[in-house]
Amino acid sequence: MKKIVSAGDRVYLKFFDLSFFHESAKEAGATFHPFRLFDDDGFKKEIIDADALMVIDRPVRRDHIAVMEKCRIIQALEVGFDFIDVEAATEKGIIVSNVPAYCTDEVANHTMTLLLALQKNLKALIKETSGGGWSYKAGEPVFSLSGKTLGIIGLGRIGRRLVPKAKAFGMGVLGYDPYLYDDIFEMTGVERCRELKDLLERSDYLSLHVPLTDETYHMIGMEELSLMKGEAYIINTCRGGVIDTNALLEALDGSLVAGAAVDVIEKEPPDRLDPILNHDKVLVTPHAAWFSSESLDRVRQQGMEEVIRVLEDKRPWYAVNPEVTYRRRT
Ligand code: NAD
Repeated sequence: MKKIVSAGDRVYLKFFDLSFFHESAKEAGATFHPFRLFDDDGFKKEIIDADALMVIDRPVRRDHIAVMEKCRIIQALEVGFDFIDVEAATEKGIIVSNVPAYCTDEVANHTMTLLLALQKNLKALIKETSGGGWSYKAGEPVFSLSGKTLGIIGLGRIGRRLVPKAKAFGMGVLGYDPYLYDDIFEMTGVERCRELKDLLERSDYLSLHVPLTDETYHMIGMEELSLMKGEAYIINTCRGGVIDTNALLEALDGSLVAGAAVDVIEKEPPDRLDPILNHDKVLVTPHAAWFSSESLDRVRQQGMEEVIRVLEDKRPWYAVNPEVTYRRRT
């Protein structure tokens, strides 16, 4: 019997009905072992003889991978896989997969929701009415959206999906992504900025859609924030670590930028006293951009299918280290 272990702090919140996993595993001749809070020793003990590991946000480090005796696949049940040591897995011949496109539209829509909420200063308007007031001026200043410029960093699946939505509101769109050919910019009708500086200086709204890597960690810090317009807004729905939070708070307090909306922060879940949660100029949502009933179905279905494909010796669809699959075949 093959053994599929699943672990992650958020796993039970997302997948409170685990019967789908148990039943799919059974059909594939495997057993499913879900765990929520795992100390390191417990985790290692459980994964030693696992054939597959499914994770959400649970760090899978080199020392974890070292104890795995027969694991074939480490499956992230999400788009980001920055919490898995892909290099260590690759060295050991373990496939690492994510579920890349289960929530592209959800995240692009969430980004637009946050953008519109910033534009109208929704936070201040709600505070006004819930405090018994009734003045439209509570939201001041409010500027028209049409004709404003959205700067997108990372023109991958989500960044690209955002483009027509922003254009439908009359916005112009700039993009910075050094890893794409010009034709992607041409096809999406996005003006390419070859330098990040250029995009930062010209954007009225900045939206981040890059993976968290060594290169993107704190790619928006004080130096970058200082280049932005004082009336510009920042939206982050990718990973908290892409922005230096202390620099962002400093820039907001010093009016270097007008406001921010973030769905992701550097430490999740946050400490109750984390200053970003209660800052007047910041809107925070709890890593909810991906979520809809349909996307939840898609992620668990596609993630489980991928695990079973690999356990049945089929080629994975979404390996982020495909060199492992080539190695296996030769
Ligand atoms: P993607 O891989 O399709 O696109 C990422 C893009 O970023 C690529 O085009 C890549 O070339 C570009 N990029 C990489 N490094 C860059 C750099 N240094 N500067 C500029 N561009 C760079 O990924 P996606 O599906 O669009 O998702 C983006 C990120 O969104 C994911 O990595 C994930 O962390 C995050 N995400 C968050 C949620 C949520 O619920 N908040 C849900 C899904 C995804």
